[in-house]
Amino acid sequence: MMKRVLIVDDSPTIRKFIGYVLRRKDYVTEEAEDGLDAMEKLSNNEIDLVIVDLNMPNMDGISFVKSLRNSYYNLHLPVIMLTTTSDSELQKEAYGAGINMFLNKPVQPDVLLDKIECLLGEGLDGKPVS
Ligand SMILES: [Mg+2]
Repeated sequence: MMKRVLIVDDSPTIRKFIGYVLRRKDYVTEEAEDGLDAMEKLSNNEIDLVIVDLNMPNMDGISFVKSLRNSYYNLHLPVIMLTTTSDSELQKEAYGAGINMFLNKPVQPDVLLDKIECLLGEGLDGKPVS
């Protein structure tokens, strides 16, 4: 079954790049331009994993993850934070808010795809890991 990934970033260039990388591997992608937009997309779409930026207008990545984890239905939704900052305090704060993984931009497509597969519980052959 095709997995659906929500890409949340205020940069259209980043959204386009990540979307391209994922669709080549048969993921279905949705995009949101900030945390608020992402909350709305989450309530209207079946999403299997979220990739979220940190710095965004309206609602930043950490606030978004906090409000997402406040919802029972999104407690276990895998979230990757992808950001240019490598500030260890912000990283700690992001994990505290409930992200599953922290990655720095720019990210190698293969690395990103590996991490996504890992979080979705799929082995290299695409079968669930038991
Ligand atoms: Mg940004």
